[in-house]
Amino acid sequence: MTLAIHGGTPVRTTPWPAWPPPLDDAQRKLVTDVLDSGLWGATQGGSACADLTAAFARLSGVRYGVAVGNATLGLFAALRGLGVGPGDEVIVPAYTFVASATSVLLAGAVPVIVDVDPVDLHLTGAVVEAAVTGRTAAVMPVHLAGSPADMDDINAVAVRHGLKVVEDAAQAHGASYKGRPVGGLGDAGVYSFQASKAMTAGEGGLIVCRDEADHEAIWSVCNLGRKLGGQWYGHPNVGWNLRLTEIQAALLLPWLDRLDSEIARRNAFVAEVERGLAAIGLPEGYEGGARQPVSVVPQPPGTTLDSRHLLMLRVHVPYDRAFFLEAMAAEGVPLDGGYPPLGTMAALTEAGARPEPCPATEAASREVVWMRQSMLMDDPAHASHLVEALTKVLHA
Ligand SMILES: *Cc1c(COP(=O)(O)O)cnc(C)c1O
Repeated sequence: MTLAIHGGTPVRTTPWPAWPPPLDDAQRKLVTDVLDSGLWGATQGGSACADLTAAFARLSGVRYGVAVGNATLGLFAALRGLGVGPGDEVIVPAYTFVASATSVLLAGAVPVIVDVDPVDLHLTGAVVEAAVTGRTAAVMPVHLAGSPADMDDINAVAVRHGLKVVEDAAQAHGASYKGRPVGGLGDAGVYSFQASKAMTAGEGGLIVCRDEADHEAIWSVCNLGRKLGGQWYGHPNVGWNLRLTEIQAALLLPWLDRLDSEIARRNAFVAEVERGLAAIGLPEGYEGGARQPVSVVPQPPGTTLDSRHLLMLRVHVPYDRAFFLEAMAAEGVPLDGGYPPLGTMAALTEAGARPEPCPATEAASREVVWMRQSMLMDDPAHASHLVEALTKVLHA
């Protein structure tokens, strides 16, 4: 079969689901209500931000939350509210979005960039333990791709060394670990509503936390240093305006009713991919030994619900990776090459980030590709398009 990149017929010619999906009636009504009310800002008496915050705290199994403009600022505010700042080190994984490190820099602390588990690509307790110094103040596990980091493992190390734990849950709305929701497993958890995320208002973020004093401190960071319930022009702390708008919250609130069914749909798609991959034969002349040419990156121990922000595939292709990605796109199945290791970004190290050796992350950057959550929202029967295109490209 001629590859589409060489003029053959593509496996798929229809578009993948649009993201965001069309507004539903509940969103349209709530957004219109907020617009008509004139109460667009979060401090004018409207209830959308407060309702969203309460809903996310509940979803995360904790009491408190603060809605913010985006998750980058949310991670910064959580760190700052938890007392992390200049002179402190924060341990972050190397295989993640750049904001996991730049939020630490924004707080004035040093991101210590450590390797991830070579198999599941998440942070582990052992790696954190090995990176702890006298200056380590916090650790930031990332619930990468929608599957939770092994939080019991990481929390045990954090307790032993007195570290704060900020969960980067930007990709993991609704995910759970050992039956417990993410976001509430550390001192604070941060969600993103940026345009690529599984719940979006174009931009947006939300911090959740368990402890009342932590909530007051984080709220103050996000509200110009005010005291919760205090004077409008009283600013006992240094803080900023990091708030979400009511209009954004109105887009997001009705989404919570669809979250479970959307997670189930993405998981159904992935289950079909796994079935299909199991049936892919080895290409002729394949030299990977017992290693499958394509495999789904497994979840860390303890995952009970993966929200499937990304389907991560480890691909051992016998030829150039850029060509592989172009060939897949030409077949109508565009995949993403994923993150470069954070430690290789000169801007971060020049700004003071300290990378540890990260061989597993470097291998992931070479071998792992992603299918994004919006594509996983397609009919699970269309998982065959991915499998067919992979088969075609690998056997070509
Ligand atoms: C998207 C993302 C962020 C940043 O979220 P924004 O809302 O865009 O600031 C941080 N960490 C991870 C892992 C992300 O995927």
